[in-house]
Amino acid sequence: HLKGKVALVTGSTSGIGLGIARVLAGEGADIVLNGFGDSAAIETLRAGLSEEFGVRVIFQAADISDAAACVAMIEMATGTLGAVDILVNNAGIQFTAEIEDFPIEKWNQVIAINLSGAFYTMRAALPGMKARGWGRIVNIASAHGLVASEHKAAYVAAKHGLLGLTKVAALECANAGVTANAVCPGWVLTPLVQQQIEARAKENRTSVSQETEALVAEKQPMHAFSSPESIGAAVAYLCSEGAKTVTGISLPVDGGWTAQ
Ligand code: NAD
Repeated sequence: HLKGKVALVTGSTSGIGLGIARVLAGEGADIVLNGFGDSAAIETLRAGLSEEFGVRVIFQAADISDAAACVAMIEMATGTLGAVDILVNNAGIQFTAEIEDFPIEKWNQVIAINLSGAFYTMRAALPGMKARGWGRIVNIASAHGLVASEHKAAYVAAKHGLLGLTKVAALECANAGVTANAVCPGWVLTPLVQQQIEARAKENRTSVSQETEALVAEKQPMHAFSSPESIGAAVAYLCSEGAKTVTGISLPVDGGWTAQ
C-alpha cells in the first residue's frame, strides 16, 4: 500500500533499521538507506533490496549527528527519488556507565545521534511533506523512552526527549496531512544488544547464551525478543491509510516491558 511513496530510514545498514527498510520495500515504497558500514557490503544490500522487492533503493552515508549532512541527504533523496514522504528516525547508539562515571563526550554523542539527529532530519523533511499534504514521521524510541534503567543516562534522556519531540511535530502538523509517531521497542537481538550481552557475560563470568536469556527475562514478562521485522510492521501500520488519524503516540512493541 506504499507504492509511489519514498521512505528514508536512518541507520538502515544494520539491525532494526534494515528490518524496517525491508518491510517498507515489501509494501512497495522506494527506499533511502543510510548508515555506516563496509561500502561493498552496503552496495550488495542496496542492490539486493531493489531486486527482491522491485523498488528503487539508494544509499546516503550521512552522519545524522551532522545537521548540514542531514539537509544534504534530504535534498539528495528528494532530487533523486522525487520526495521524502516517510521519514523513519532509527539511527541510534548506546553507552552504559553510572552517571558519575559517564564520559561527557559519550553523553554528547548519544544525545547528538539519538535525539538531535531526528530533529535535523525532521526539520529538513517537514517542509516538503507539508507542501505535498502527505507525510509520515516515525521515530524509533525505546521502552527506555517510557521507563528508565540504571547506567543508561544519556540513552534514556535522549529517548524520553525523542517522544517529546514527536508530540510537538504531531501538533504542528495536525492539519497538514502529516502524522508523527514513535515506536518503542523492547529487546531486539541486533549488534547493539549483542555488545551488551557480551559485556555482561565477561563481567559476570557467564556464557553468552545464559546472559541472552537473563537480559530478556529481567525486563520483559514475555521472554522473547521482538524481530526487526516486527518493528517494521509497526512502522508500516503507522504509515497506512488506517492510521491517518493516529498521531503523537508511542507504540510499544516490548513483550510487556512497560505494562509493569
Ligand atoms: P544497530 O547498532 O544494529 O544499528 C544502528 C544503525 O545506525 C546502523 O545502521 C549504524 O550504521 C547506524 N548509525 C549509527 N550511528 C549513526 C550516525 N551517526 N549516522 C547515521 N547512522 C548511524 O542498532 P539497532 O539495535 O538496530 O538500533 C536501532 C534503533 O533502535 C536505535 O535507535 C536503538 O536505540 C533502537 N532500539 C533498539 C533496541 C534493541 O533491543 N536493539 C531496543 C529499543 C530501541
